[in-house]
Amino acid sequence: MKRVAIFPGSFDPITKGHENILRRALPLFDEIIIAIGINNSKQNYFPMEKRKEWIRQVFADEPKVRIESYTGLTIHFCKKMNATYILRGLRTSADFEFEKSIAQNNKIMAPEIETVFILPIPELSAINSTIVRDIIRNGGDATPFVPKGVVFDI
Ligand code: ADP
Repeated sequence: MKRVAIFPGSFDPITKGHENILRRALPLFDEIIIAIGINNSKQNYFPMEKRKEWIRQVFADEPKVRIESYTGLTIHFCKKMNATYILRGLRTSADFEFEKSIAQNNKIMAPEIETVFILPIPELSAINSTIVRDIIRNGGDATPFVPKGVVFDI
């Protein structure tokens, strides 16, 4: 059976942290679907199309990576995509506590789906999209934090 993983998140915008987790997970799976969650109660900063375009650009050389957007529960989207793995990154102990309850509850609802966690390399563990957005909003240079080729031209 094809090993398909979903990498869910808002990717608003994609950072070097996301890229690191995804590239390291690639050898484990036949396909990884980067799934941009549409959360109606959450205001996003960058438009969906722009976020997709940057991700497409970063993984242009990677045929195993696919990009989709979804609404609703991640486990429902996994079933729709025939994915049996959820990929998540763990930056901090706060991430761990948060992710632990989601993964354990997902396991009760969908026992066939495994959540797989990867720790970022230490120099990338302080990066998050919120900080990157703040830097951009305030006219700073976010290039050290985002994958090569991502240009904030909007
Ligand atoms: P953020 O939390 O930065 O807004 P997302 O909601 O897009 O990011 O998160 C998608 C996934 O990527 C989550 O599992 C998150 O823990 C992971 N992730 C985000 N930034 C990093 C990082 N610097 N290192 C490792 N994992 C990360």
